[in-house]
Amino acid sequence: MTRSSPVSAGPTSAFDPEDWDAFRALGRRMVDDLVDQLQGLGDGPVWRPMPDAVRATFRSEALGAPQPVEAVYADYLETVAPYAGGNRHPGFMGWVQGAGAPVGALAEMLAAGLNMNCGGRDHVGIALEQQIGLWARDWFGFPATARGLFVTGASMANFAACLAARSRALGPEARASGVGAARLTAYAAQGAHACVVRAMEMAGLGREALRLVPLNADFQMDIKALDSLIQADVEAGLQPFLVTATAGSVDVGAFDDLAMLADLAERRGLWLHVDGAFGALGVHSARVRPKLAGLDRAQSVAFDFHKWGQVPYDAGFIIVADGARLTDVFASPAAYLSREPEGLAAGDFWPTDYGPDLSRGCRALKTWFILRTCGVEAIGAAIDTGLDLAAALRARIAAETRLEQLGPSDLNIVCFRYLPDPVTSGGAAPDLDDLNRGIARRLQIKGRVAPSLTRIDGKVALRAALFNPRATLSDINALVDGALLEGAELAGKATHDQPSRN
Ligand SMILES: *Cc1c(COP(=O)(O)O)cnc(C)c1O
Repeated sequence: MTRSSPVSAGPTSAFDPEDWDAFRALGRRMVDDLVDQLQGLGDGPVWRPMPDAVRATFRSEALGAPQPVEAVYADYLETVAPYAGGNRHPGFMGWVQGAGAPVGALAEMLAAGLNMNCGGRDHVGIALEQQIGLWARDWFGFPATARGLFVTGASMANFAACLAARSRALGPEARASGVGAARLTAYAAQGAHACVVRAMEMAGLGREALRLVPLNADFQMDIKALDSLIQADVEAGLQPFLVTATAGSVDVGAFDDLAMLADLAERRGLWLHVDGAFGALGVHSARVRPKLAGLDRAQSVAFDFHKWGQVPYDAGFIIVADGARLTDVFASPAAYLSREPEGLAAGDFWPTDYGPDLSRGCRALKTWFILRTCGVEAIGAAIDTGLDLAAALRARIAAETRLEQLGPSDLNIVCFRYLPDPVTSGGAAPDLDDLNRGIARRLQIKGRVAPSLTRIDGKVALRAALFNPRATLSDINALVDGALLEGAELAGKATHDQPSRN
């Protein structure tokens, strides 16, 4: 392999390497080290707390003199890499997080090398982003008028959708006049994500204008209750404008009935938005797809490539069936952003017209690499693996008298808690919520598996969200065995700590 010799060998700015060959060698070492880490993920702990000495290195008051990159990289290996969030590891089951496909890391490096500003103009970063939007349009059965773009995550996507719906209800003039005395009301299930509430706050409509609709026995939005709430609001002179359905609730993985919500939204003239943060990519699994029936009738969908899509953070996406709704909200006629028929200032799709950001990086390249190399087949397979592991976990919970499953789950999220043995705890019942919190903490610190916590029907529950395609049955067994062990120890300790009652 030969490479063409560079035109000039020396540095061209204070930011460029002094020695390009040494820089190249370091880059190769970085890739080697990263690949070693990724190949050996299961050998280390999921997560480790940062020792105080390491934490202290990030609390210096002054930046200090510039260091050679080799020295900073040595610091990275010692103080940064070992203390990451843990979501790459097969034992990570907390929250709802993707593990990241390795090819995404390389693509991210390439994207940084190109350093494209994907707010607009005519360059390939925009073409890549449009390509991803076209694929999403096809997956969701959206019309040719649909436009989609990357945002940080579903939180921002839900916010953008809220603004688009607000604009349809009040007209684009609201951008000039504000929301004034408009009394818009929106609707979402009680299990909706907290960012759906925050979207209403940020849109200036107030969270009190969001009605949290009771759930039915399957933890879905109760459609009858929804209709009564809308009716009551109409009778009170309010203006219902938006219903946000959840496709994959963050607590228990429930899917609202999108087809019924689409019927109701049509009849009531509401915008139907789907928070499909993780669930929308379920279109790629034959086992999840039926839960998404009606998705194609929504006005907008929020979803995250960084969850089931395994794109490294961050890679949220918003797609709106009538893309012009987004330009109504976001496009501005600024002279320095004016368009030309040709040249760099050309291009018919400037993401800044469709979203809140002007300068933005290229989230499309890592997504494009992963989709093109792994295919949506890999997404479907990873989803199915999570479903199988969840079923195995449920079976083990059912077989253990000390464990109780909480909430429904036919999806990849399983909530459960430890119940102490009334005999060995001598009738002095420890607080179950504290006990289960203690179990989660201890498991996380031991580092073999890391579940998180939630509340189901007011009870603190351990929560295993099986999004990591690297997880196997051994991780499930480690979770159950670990919960039993820590639970027994903590229950015994709580009994000892109780003042004797006799
Ligand atoms: C993760 C999640 C969100 C928030 O998405 P971010 O990408 O973290 O902003 C919203 N809704 C649901 C259902 C989620 O699972």
